[in-house]
Amino acid sequence: MVKIRLSRKRVPTNQAQMELDFMRPQERDRNGHLGGRSFYFFDFDDNVAYLSTPIVIFNKTTGSEKTLSSGEWARLHSNIGKSGPLADYTIDYNDETGSFRYFRDQQLSFIDKMVRRKQTFLSDIEKVLAQADYSWKAPSWNCFYHATFNKRPTSVITARGHHKDTIREGIELLVREGHLPHSPNYLSIFPVTNPEVRVAELKDPALKAGVAELKREAINQSVEEALRLYGNSPYHRFGMSDDDPKNVELITEEMKLLKRKYPQMSFFVIQTFEDSYVKTEVLETKTKNSSKQHSSSLSSQKNQLDLF
Ligand SMILES: [Mg+2]
Repeated sequence: MVKIRLSRKRVPTNQAQMELDFMRPQERDRNGHLGGRSFYFFDFDDNVAYLSTPIVIFNKTTGSEKTLSSGEWARLHSNIGKSGPLADYTIDYNDETGSFRYFRDQQLSFIDKMVRRKQTFLSDIEKVLAQADYSWKAPSWNCFYHATFNKRPTSVITARGHHKDTIREGIELLVREGHLPHSPNYLSIFPVTNPEVRVAELKDPALKAGVAELKREAINQSVEEALRLYGNSPYHRFGMSDDDPKNVELITEEMKLLKRKYPQMSFFVIQTFEDSYVKTEVLETKTKNSSKQHSSSLSSQKNQLDLF
């Protein structure tokens, strides 16, 4: 007997929680009438969604493990091994046994596959989708929905090191469960710590660059890819959102370079916090703070979207 698995799009039972209307008309890109497109680049964890994937750090003396959420990591990682409560801990970069082992694809054996064991990115998304509420939606979720709904060219630029297909499959789960109307119009997917991606695409053959540097290169390549695919228009607009201050700093530096190279195009960085965000327009030598708002109010969400 041949079993066919049909994937059916479900509509969440609590429609009131869906933040945007399925029936609303698609909006054109802000500069669409001038030939410009709006490109959206997203960090994933704690920006689009909160997942429970832990980061493991190791006590320098005893080797004992301590787990951090990705939010704690974003706030504390620059002090690990140096100062504060995590001064005695260290980060281990081994993909199989180290700090980020849950952010990498693991080799699944035949038995693993038989019992339908999945890569952690997928099982962590399934876990949040099983929750009764939608508190897993992070500050840029509405922006991600908006970009997807309106088919804006979208890049996912994440510190995770899974295979690109795993990232795509994880986002597909959100589509299947009715949280997104269809798949994003992908411009690029950069899981920047994936070894193959680092070597083949991000000019890091010795696997030495840090996440922020890798994201910086991923942004550069996503902009160049955008121009290859959509042509070179002075009316293009690019925006990247991320919750990690170190990433935001280097993303801004990269966007300054891009602005110098393409001075007529517009570049924005949105730093997200749990309950607010700061939107900055990047100019050639400086930045211009566009706004700082609470992300919970409807008007501020609209303001974040209005960028593009
Ligand atoms: Mg993040």
